[in-house]
Amino acid sequence: MNNTESVFKELGFTYNKDNLYFHTIDTMLNAAEKLSIPKRLQLILAQPKNELIVHFPVRMDDGNFKLFKGYRVQHNNVLGPYKGGLRFDNTVHLDHIKSLAAIMTIKCALLELPLGGAKGGVQMDPRTFSADELMRLTRRYTSAMGNNIGPDYDMPAPDVGTNSQIMAWIADTYINLDNRKSVGGIGVVTGKPLCYGGSHGREKATGQGLVYVVEELLPEKSMSLENCRFSLVGYGNVGSWVGRLLCEKGACMIAVGDHTGFVKNEHGINPFELARYVEQQGGVAGFSGADKISEEHFYKTEVELFIPAALEQMIDVKKAKMINCKVLVEAANMPVTPEADQLLTSKGVEIFPAVLCNAGGVTVSYFEWKQNRQAETWELDVVDKKLKRLMNKATHRVKRMSQELKCDLRTAAYCVALKHIDEVYEIRGIFP
Ligand code: NAD
Repeated sequence: MNNTESVFKELGFTYNKDNLYFHTIDTMLNAAEKLSIPKRLQLILAQPKNELIVHFPVRMDDGNFKLFKGYRVQHNNVLGPYKGGLRFDNTVHLDHIKSLAAIMTIKCALLELPLGGAKGGVQMDPRTFSADELMRLTRRYTSAMGNNIGPDYDMPAPDVGTNSQIMAWIADTYINLDNRKSVGGIGVVTGKPLCYGGSHGREKATGQGLVYVVEELLPEKSMSLENCRFSLVGYGNVGSWVGRLLCEKGACMIAVGDHTGFVKNEHGINPFELARYVEQQGGVAGFSGADKISEEHFYKTEVELFIPAALEQMIDVKKAKMINCKVLVEAANMPVTPEADQLLTSKGVEIFPAVLCNAGGVTVSYFEWKQNRQAETWELDVVDKKLKRLMNKATHRVKRMSQELKCDLRTAAYCVALKHIDEVYEIRGIFP
């Protein structure tokens, strides 16, 4: 019985190798073993502190009511209040949200932010909702959460299927439930619109943070972004900013895929035109600046960087066999299955891990929360400079740990985070 299995046995669970939550905790506990992190901390981190499930009705435009299931999982708050995205998607379920909440704990610790990890979600497809239905659903979810969210306790942010408008509705609902909250209440969510307490640079933050990491790590592989060819799966918030910002640095985007199809242009796809097209049409299919290709053709296309920026576990063994790249840069959370990870590594593909690469989002969310608390607005150059500094420091910590432990970057990133959490637990002790 390995360490993860024995931790789960102690918690009364049977290890299930096909479950994403077990994979996530497995990665965390394998890193913990490398650092000889005490068993008591491993047990604490193997389960979230709180798992909230709510059911709430929403009136649809046709007058009928539908019942929805909403989640908020608060994994750990030893470093500070809970922080993590809110997802509206059909694939949302409890273990999925638990995994994403645990990852948020690691990300905040890796960046040394004074925040803990959480995640929320509602199982639904926002693409099939009118704006009014979406607003009513968002407000009911917020009221169902009650005081389980708040600017000093747990602050959601945008994720798959949610955006700044949804964050504004959450803040407005939270404040309306108790008008005394109106001054500090705006900090209940981040990723808000600029005109209502949002931060400059939040929309592009995840993509921007990834670019800072890639710029630091590529020279280690004797590579640079100049003329570097890359392909992307997912052209939503994260993917479209990664595309635009990498091209601004001289890289060339030659293939893109999403839920509507796959397109390719050997001479380079214009990332700005594609972003405008996707905003209007909802997906990359039919974009005139590139040719339609099959999924197989997309994955077999030779590139220097392959960047998954869509949903979790999309890169399985079948796709890993086809992928033809030097470096796989994880923009989405947990985009690669453990088996695909092994296969890619055996093919000599270096993986830049998501907990580092996409931590720019939570970092600028932290900046937004700080600005709200201080009633300040920072200029974009200030945000970018602070983001670059924190991303570079975290990248160096990961590089150093990987050299010290002679391990891959993913294990090193988890080790850096766990070391920090362990130090704080040692100092704080376990209550009472
Ligand atoms: P989004 O909803 O804006 O975009 C999701 C993208 O995935 C879309 O382009 C969609 O077409 C694509 N997609 C969905 N199903 C697909 C399928 N079956 N095949 C191919 N493509 C598919 O979401 P986002 O905010 O860009 O988030 C993407 C990933 O990045 C998620 O893993 C999210 O948790 C992670 N992330 C997001 C942020 C953030 O700030 N938004 C921060 C950190 C991590």
